[in-house]
Amino acid sequence: MSLSLWEKESFYAPADIIIIGSGFVGLWSAYYLKKKHPRLRITIVERGIIPSGASTRNAGFACFGSVTELIKDAAMMGEEQMLWLVEMRYRGLAKIRKTFKKKQIDYEKSGGYEMVPALNDRMNELEWQVKWLNSKLNAVLKEKKVFRFSDEKIGEFGFSEVGHIIENELEGTLHPGKLCMSLLHLVQEKGVVVLSGIDVDRFEESANGIKVFAKNGLELSADQLLICTNGFSASLMPGFEITPARGQVLVTSEVPSLKLKGAFHYNEGFYYFRNVGNRLLIGGARNIAIEQETTTEMTVTEDIQTTLEQFVSKHILPGTYFEVTDRWSGIMGVGPEKMPVIKKVSPNVFCAVRMSGIGVALAPVAADTITDLMR
Ligand SMILES: Cc1cc2nc3c(=O)[nH]c(=O)nc-3n(C[C@H](O)[C@H](O)[C@H](O)COP(=O)(O)OP(=O)(O)OC[C@H]3O[C@@H](n4cnc5c(N)ncnc54)[C@H](O)[C@@H]3O)c2cc1C
Repeated sequence: MSLSLWEKESFYAPADIIIIGSGFVGLWSAYYLKKKHPRLRITIVERGIIPSGASTRNAGFACFGSVTELIKDAAMMGEEQMLWLVEMRYRGLAKIRKTFKKKQIDYEKSGGYEMVPALNDRMNELEWQVKWLNSKLNAVLKEKKVFRFSDEKIGEFGFSEVGHIIENELEGTLHPGKLCMSLLHLVQEKGVVVLSGIDVDRFEESANGIKVFAKNGLELSADQLLICTNGFSASLMPGFEITPARGQVLVTSEVPSLKLKGAFHYNEGFYYFRNVGNRLLIGGARNIAIEQETTTEMTVTEDIQTTLEQFVSKHILPGTYFEVTDRWSGIMGVGPEKMPVIKKVSPNVFCAVRMSGIGVALAPVAADTITDLMR
């Protein structure tokens, strides 16, 4: 199909900036670019009908990391980088709350909790880790005692075979679908053109600017390009250390006796669960099949789903009948370390990718940072 003159001069008109990917990072980037330079002509291209990566398929934790995950990160990436990440996520949560009303995105400051098995001989070590993290986070976030033991809540939440609970009252939950949709409306109101169903095959950079080629034959042009394709970046940015990591989730039907409320972490963040009203959402268990889950296929598998169900029966809803009503997966972008890749790739090509497992909070800061490097 050849394009009409009208289409060429409106929907497909040359832009100042093309953003590939309409997940949180792409949308927040359009938001900050418009905020910083209101007259910029921005086009976002998205391969799905709606954002189709992680942003509308995650667990909706408004979080910045649990104790066991942060201790592991510090060991792997060093204390400084771990603290930098936490600070960025913390600042990101503040940006989300500043931009949207609680009701728009169902934000609830319901608290975050880490479930820890009985440690016996390693309890002193955990107490020391909590103390160490609190002192470090106090210096960075200016928040007193971010983490504290709340073992009395084990019974209150109805958990079984759980040794300890570490509480972080700064965390909460939100509705990622509503956040994505609100962001989309916000940038469209500011004049950003969002084109869905455009799967970008490749791009070319020359002295005249950028040309973007879609798989359906469409060609778009711009002065600058921003790649926000997270776990799907391999084909557009070969050679970058970004690997897809599938995350699977299930949600139960209503459980009238559900006692827990908030965002719960377990085992270095490999398991996570929360309430959605009085339904239970749980995700994770990727660690039982890392190789299998290194994929961009958005399907669910029996091994992971069964492991999640068994976890629910053993620890969260012991002796309680539940039915699973929804199952899905989303794709994260991970790498050899957890730092995101936010940089200028060539004179007019930029990227903000590899948001790992806590990208809801990181996205606004990644977007603010990369857009400072652009026009
Ligand atoms: C199951 C699961 C649970 C999670 N839970 C949480 C949580 O509770 N809290 C939290 O903070 N984080 C969570 N995360 C992580 C978080 O969702 C991500 O870090 C974040 O959404 C990443 O946003 P993004 O914009 O970088 O990527 P994405 O949302 O993946 O967006 C990338 C977009 O690019 C598009 N795209 C890709 N390739 C192309 C192409 N060639 N052409 C055009 N478009 C393209 C994709 O369709 C997609 O819409 C979870 C992730 C998963 C999968």
